[in-house]
Order: sequence, then structure tokens, then C-alpha cells
Amino acid sequence: MKLDSKIPSGPLQQKWERYRLEMKLVNPANKRKFDVIVVGSGLAGGSAAASLAELGYNVKCFCFQDSPRRAHSIAAQGGINAAKNYQNDGDSIYRLFYDTIKGGDFRAREANVYRLAQVSVNIIDQCVAQGVPFAREYGGLLANRSFGGAQVSRTFYARGQTGQQLLIGAYQALERQIGLGRCQMFPMTEMLDVVVVDGQARGIVTRDLVTGEIASHAADAVVLATGGYGNVFYLSTNAKGCNVTATFRAFKKGAAFANPCYTQIHPTCIPVSGDHQSKLTLMSESLRNDGRVWVPKKKGDTRPPSQIPDAERDYYLERKYPSYGNLAPRDIASRAAKEVCDEGRGVGPGGKGVYLDFADSIKRLGEKAIRERYDNLFEMYERITGENGYKTPMRIYPAVHYTMGGTWVDYNLMSTLPGLFVIGEANFSDHGANRLGASALMQGLADGYFVIPNTIGNFFASSKQAKTSTSHPEFRKTEEEVKTRLQKLLSIRGKRTVSSFHRELGKLMWDKCGMARNEKGLSEALQLIPALRQEFWENVNVLGDGGELNQSLEHAGRVADFMEFAELLCLDALTRAESCGGHFREEFQTEDGEALRNDERFGFVSAWEYQGSGKPPLLQKELLVYEEVKMTQRSYK
Ligand SMILES: Cc1cc2nc3c(=O)[nH]c(=O)nc-3n(C[C@H](O)[C@H](O)[C@H](O)COP(=O)(O)OP(=O)(O)OC[C@H]3O[C@@H](n4cnc5c(N)ncnc54)[C@H](O)[C@@H]3O)c2cc1C
Repeated sequence: MKLDSKIPSGPLQQKWERYRLEMKLVNPANKRKFDVIVVGSGLAGGSAAASLAELGYNVKCFCFQDSPRRAHSIAAQGGINAAKNYQNDGDSIYRLFYDTIKGGDFRAREANVYRLAQVSVNIIDQCVAQGVPFAREYGGLLANRSFGGAQVSRTFYARGQTGQQLLIGAYQALERQIGLGRCQMFPMTEMLDVVVVDGQARGIVTRDLVTGEIASHAADAVVLATGGYGNVFYLSTNAKGCNVTATFRAFKKGAAFANPCYTQIHPTCIPVSGDHQSKLTLMSESLRNDGRVWVPKKKGDTRPPSQIPDAERDYYLERKYPSYGNLAPRDIASRAAKEVCDEGRGVGPGGKGVYLDFADSIKRLGEKAIRERYDNLFEMYERITGENGYKTPMRIYPAVHYTMGGTWVDYNLMSTLPGLFVIGEANFSDHGANRLGASALMQGLADGYFVIPNTIGNFFASSKQAKTSTSHPEFRKTEEEVKTRLQKLLSIRGKRTVSSFHRELGKLMWDKCGMARNEKGLSEALQLIPALRQEFWENVNVLGDGGELNQSLEHAGRVADFMEFAELLCLDALTRAESCGGHFREEFQTEDGEALRNDERFGFVSAWEYQGSGKPPLLQKELLVYEEVKMTQRSYK
């Protein structure tokens, strides 16, 4: 396998523009001759499917929910970044680019990130034109707030429901194409494999989640927009359905998987309250605009927060990172929270929490102003914890939230499997080792509305490939493999539920490969995961059968993939003997406990190549060349 990032030549600022001019085009009358499959209808997939159909391609779009409107993107709360500089506070495309590169701890590809920053400004215009109700200032201009890792306010938002409002915009555009007959939508349909014909991705095999029917779909290109894999940790802020199946099966068909160990732990989530939980809840980073994070200075201080005077509080983010304060990036804020809790200064049950306190902002701005900004988040917090965040500080703790790793893609967003494009959270492209807040929505929509509509046309126009159909033997073969696997899961009839395996895997991952990792723990995990996987295949109990709606079977298939993927993640974490961003190896830290990179040895993207069943994957390296920025020790002090 050869990794060719296909970064266009020329100055960074002009690469995308020049490349677009150089790209080959498909004549409008010829576009309808090309079939495109888009798997996923979240912000990345929904925007891509709508845009490709609008261009004239024949699009089929798939999702496992009953409606594209239920994609996990709907959960996004805080906002979306764009370098509009509406606040006149010094923002620019270059600054957004630089913040993102630095935020990712110098482990992202410069050219992709610069393009992302350029395109960011178009996204807001597109969404406003669709009617997305972004918050506005009194005079009618769009409002902004701040997010972590930036000293400017560039985040556009719709209260605490930005993802939902953006998704409604993309969904309307998609529905329009469905209505026009240019896009066929397949809800409640799960992709279970990619079909490769003559070394190219030429289709997918799916299962109808209502009837259990296994079917094949052929196309000239396949786009995966299937989201992130945070649920390998079982407990995360992701929707329960989020999984790695599509990208992992693509990995087994030749699409290299990049940086699986780069996982984002978000500092502001509602703390775990017991074993009964099956997911965790995010309290948006936007809350750190007005909330101050603190713990008592004294260890084991069990006084209620109202009885702890200011002088006995440690506003540790403001103390440690005075220039960014409570808006230090997520990896840094998470580690700082872990540190104070490990010292015995955490609050709430088990001491696994820190306060997020709005008292000062309420005093300064009034409760009404805080309500206007975040009311649905306060309401959500109260429903879950029974506590009123306006009256008493919220309690928060870090939790798994986002995955920067994903399918390796080149500048065109095409994987190492020709014809297979991967967009949104499912690819690895723009966030390096840590993602800054409000940049996932930006990336998903940049990929879907602006990048893939260009690059897929170039692919079609440059490659002369013959049409294929589902009667090709590769489709039959792949269908048979899918059926055999499902049958195997159904035939075990063991003693443990799918959930119990998932929970055990997640705990293992969190303990050994969570917020802090070390060689010993990772080596142990690499022993324990195969043993757990073996037990899974011998002792899992999948209820029901394959010819019906069967959520136990759906879950089993996803957990089976997590069982293999977890090993890849830990192997990647073990191999990367440095700390960077969200990947914190305890052995590699500065004197004051910050991540210590080793650019000489690890200034590359790890892209893992599948070598076949039972064989260790092969590490391929894409060297990261920084022509524009200087790699420095990241500092937010
Ligand atoms: C609670 C929360 C809040 C967030 N807030 C923000 C925020 O404020 N700002 C920000 O920038 N980011 C935020 N994020 C991150 C952001 O929401 C996600 O990264 C982003 O929405 C992912 O979009 P996506 O389109 O790539 O994937 P998703 O929205 O996860 O969509 C995946 C799609 O793929 C489909 N799919 C998956 N597998 C299959 C399969 N095998 N077969 C068929 N279909 C499949 C699903 O049905 C779905 O349609 C937040 C994340 C969480 C968890």
C-alpha cells in the first residue's frame, strides 16, 4: 500500500483554488450517468447526498435510523466555527487554520486544514440561505461565542441545539432531492460491507433492519459518512447507535485506518453516576464562556459549594492557563480535571467531579441573559441530576466524546481503496491529535457541501471505469460472507448478553487506554481484548432471528467489530511512544504534566493496513510536512 496524500503544489493559500481549476469536470449532461452511494445522512452524509444530487448525480443514501433527522449530528449543542470575523476581534482564515493546527498538537495535514478554514465562511452563508436560525445580535447580525483553544469569538450557534438546526437545513436540502427523484433514501438500512471489484469500491451490501433482507447496491463511487467510534468505550457522549462497522469493514477491504488512538475526552460531561448507565451526557463547551471551573483547595472538602469561600477555591484552569482560562482546549482541560480529582480534590460522589459555576456570570449579566444563551442545557442538566444549575454549580467530569482517528483519506477525501471516499467524523483528516470545539460540524459540512462535490467529479472525469452491476460475482460473494457472519452470531446462543460484553470492553478500554495511557496498561489490554473477543464468539447470546427487526443482532454485529477495532486502537496507542493532544502517554510528559511530543520520531500519521485474519496490521506512515507553520511546544499559558 502506498500513501499518497495528493496535496496540490503551490502556496498554501492558493492550493484549493488552483486545484479546483485544474480538476477535470463532468459535463452536466453526463452527471446523471454516474451512481453514487452515500452511507450516512448526518451532517456530512446529508450535505454530501443533497449536494451531489443537486449537481445531477444519481444518489442513493443510507442510514440505520428511521429518518435522516435522527443522525447523531442532531446532538451537537454548542456551535460551528467559521472565520467570518464578524466580531472584528482579529479573526482570519489564517488564524482559524493556525488555531486548528495548534489545537491538533501539530498532527494534522496543513493543506487540508487550510482548506477547511477557507471553506468555513461559505458554510455559514449556505446554512443561512437554507434558513438555519443562528442566534443574532440585537441589530440582526449573526452572533458569535467563544470556544476552547481560540482567543477570538468565531462560533456560530443556535442556542444549545446547533447540530439539530444545521441538520434540519441539510435534511431539507436532501428531502428536496428525494422529492425530485434524484436521491433515493434507504432509512433503517445498515451497510455491512463494501464490495470491491477489480481493486475499486463498487458498491455495498446492506441489511434491511425491518425485514432482515440482505441486498446489494452497485455504484461508481461509495462515500462513507458514518460518524465516529467513541462507543468502543461503551460509555460516551455519542448516541447509542454510533459504531465503527462501516469504516472497519472498509479497513478489511483495503482502506487504511488512520490514528485510531486519537480519542477526544471532553472535559464537561455529567459525571458517571453508577453501573446502570448506558451513555453519558455532554454539557456543551460553550458553557465555559460563562461558567468558571473550580474545585476546593483542600483535599476531601465535603462542604456544599455555597459554603466554600472564594479564597478556598482553586479556579485551576484560570490559574494554570491565564491567557485561555476556562477556554483551554479539551485535552488540556480534561487532564487538568483528572489531575485535581486524582489529588483528592474532586467533588460529588466518589470525588470524580469538578464544579462549573455560573454565579459570577449571573451576578454580572443577570439570569435572563444566561437563560437566553443556554437554557436547554440547564434544563437537561436539571432533568438528569435533579439540581438547578442556576442556583448551585454544575458538577462535571471528562468523558469520551469524539474520535479524531478514522479512515485515512487523501486531499480528495478518497481512501486507499480507490472509489471509496470518507467524510465527516468517519475520516481522520483535519483535527490531528485533538479537535477544537465547534470544528466537527464545520468539517462535516465542509466535506459534504464543498469538498466532495468537487473531488468526486474529478475522480469520475479522470478514471475511465466500466459500469458494474450487482450481478457481478463479487456482490454474491460479499452477500454470502455477510449472511454467514450474521448466522454465526445467531447460532452461538451463549449465556452473556451483547451489552455485558460491550460494557466489559468499554471499561477495559477506559481503564487501559482512556485519558492516560502507559506501556504496561496497553500491553495488558492487548492481551485481554483477544481473550474477551474469543469469549464473545463462544458465549454471546443474540436473541431472535435474522429475518425480523432484531436490535440484539444489530448490536452484536457492531460490538463484534468493536472487539477487533479495540485491539487496533490499543496497538496504535502503544506504538505511538509520545504524548500528543488527546493521546496522553504517562511516560511522556513535561515537568508540569503537559503532553510531550516527539516530532522527530512521530511527526507522522499512522495509517494501519489490514493484512488478513490473524495477522498483525501493518503500520504505514504519512510524514507530516509543515511548510507554513513551525511545530512548537503547544502552550495556552
Ligand atoms: C453530545 C455531542 C455534542 C456535540 N456538539 C458539537 C458542537 O457543538 N460542535 C461541533 O462542531 N461538534 C459537536 N459534536 C461533534 C459532532 O456532532 C459530530 O462529530 C458530527 O455531528 C458527526 O457528523 P457525521 O455526519 O460525521 O456523523 P453522524 O452524525 O454520526 O452520522 C452518521 C450517519 O451514518 C449512518 N451510519 C453509520 N453507520 C452506518 C452503517 N453501517 N450503515 C448505514 N448507515 C450508517 C448513521 O445512520 C448516520 O446517518 C458533538 C458531539 C456530541 C456527541
